[in-house]
Amino acid sequence: MPHHRYLIVGGGMAADAAVRGIRAVDPNGTVGLISAETDPPYDRPPLTKGLWKDMEQDRVWRCTADLEVDLLLGRRVIRLDSEDRTATDDRGTVHTWEKLLLATGGSPKILPSAPPQVVHFRTWRDYLRVRETAARKTRFAVIGGGFVGSELAAALALNGREVMMIFPEDGIGAKVFPVGHARFLNDYYRARGVDVRPRTEVAGVRRSGDRMLLAVVGPNGEGETLPVDMVVAGLGITPATSLAESVGLELQDGIVVDASLRTGHPNIWAAGDVASVWSPPLGRRLRPEHEDQANTTGEQAGRAMAGEHVELDHLPFFYSDLFDLSYEAVGVLDPSLEVVEDWAEPGRRGVLYYTDGGRVQGVLLWNVRGKLREARELIRKGEPRQVEKWRGAISTST
Ligand SMILES: Cc1cc2nc3c(=O)[nH]c(=O)nc-3n(C[C@H](O)[C@H](O)[C@H](O)COP(=O)(O)OP(=O)(O)OC[C@H]3O[C@@H](n4cnc5c(N)ncnc54)[C@H](O)[C@@H]3O)c2cc1C
Repeated sequence: MPHHRYLIVGGGMAADAAVRGIRAVDPNGTVGLISAETDPPYDRPPLTKGLWKDMEQDRVWRCTADLEVDLLLGRRVIRLDSEDRTATDDRGTVHTWEKLLLATGGSPKILPSAPPQVVHFRTWRDYLRVRETAARKTRFAVIGGGFVGSELAAALALNGREVMMIFPEDGIGAKVFPVGHARFLNDYYRARGVDVRPRTEVAGVRRSGDRMLLAVVGPNGEGETLPVDMVVAGLGITPATSLAESVGLELQDGIVVDASLRTGHPNIWAAGDVASVWSPPLGRRLRPEHEDQANTTGEQAGRAMAGEHVELDHLPFFYSDLFDLSYEAVGVLDPSLEVVEDWAEPGRRGVLYYTDGGRVQGVLLWNVRGKLREARELIRKGEPRQVEKWRGAISTST
């Protein structure tokens, strides 16, 4: 029975960061990492960004193997026993552990009755599949107007592919941007050759020869069938909480953890996309699905597992690149909050403040660089202002 002092379930960025956190405190304790993916940990953000520009493929790998860790790849943990401290994988191997980290992230939401040729984009292998098809074929349908859909549509268009973008909201990124800005992005994408179809639902997808037939229903209920070479979906994720649930850990959207990333079990921690973390500055639980959160909570959980005192008080940021536009954001970007838009150049450069009761909960820095610290400070201060008075709180110049 393989035994590790520290066992990590998951092989994403949070898992890699956790190994680093453990090693910073405990250079000798045995570490095992079990991942359902056959590849070792890598950076996910380049899969829809840099790798479609000039980034070399070798740069995505996080070199986790250099950290004295047993990488057990291509295996899924299917059973946990929190009393006997065992984890059983899908090959029937029972692993014992002293301390366990759940860094299981999330699984992509699946388009109902999609044939296997539809790529639900999340992994390195998905990137390779789309990249390989893009080298041979021209016409792509991207389903979803969120982070993954908007980045992938831009990446394919930048590489000269014909792209259709289909999503039910009014505009690109409408779950995080005010509607006017989301509609501005529709036009921005159209001007770069993307066939943007907002308020459009997918009625079905089927294969026909070496093409895919995508049935859609547009805003006025009109149906259409679109022949494409490949359908790629970015519909968001469902946090992978089933192992946690099976051993009775508390769930609230994700796995509930305290400020040291520990669950209700004294020897089980959780980090990354799957963890629901209390945010002291915002006074609420968050489950951010961002690189910074995966890296920070992963590392802090690793340190905590190895015995260091950890008190997480982090406001995670995230970023994205859409053609030549890029942004950074921190806090809660919920367009149902009262949003003050301070544009130096409409749609091109500005700062947006997401306020609740006059207090800033989130800041979007649109093509404005180097202002994350100021944005975090505004949120931390929690100062109430008349909403309009937030305009100018952060300079829109770069
Ligand atoms: C294409 C793409 C682009 C992105 N771009 C950005 C960006 O620009 N900026 C940003 O801030 N964020 C971005 N993100 C989000 C960011 O990548 C995620 O927040 C981060 O990857 C989460 O890491 P994680 O380790 O928590 O989870 P995941 O990356 O989901 O990793 C979970 C791992 O656990 C494994 N696993 C799950 N269950 C089991 C099990 N039972 N047994 C064994 N293994 C298991 C999975 O196979 C996977 O390897 C992007 C995400 C994607 C997909």
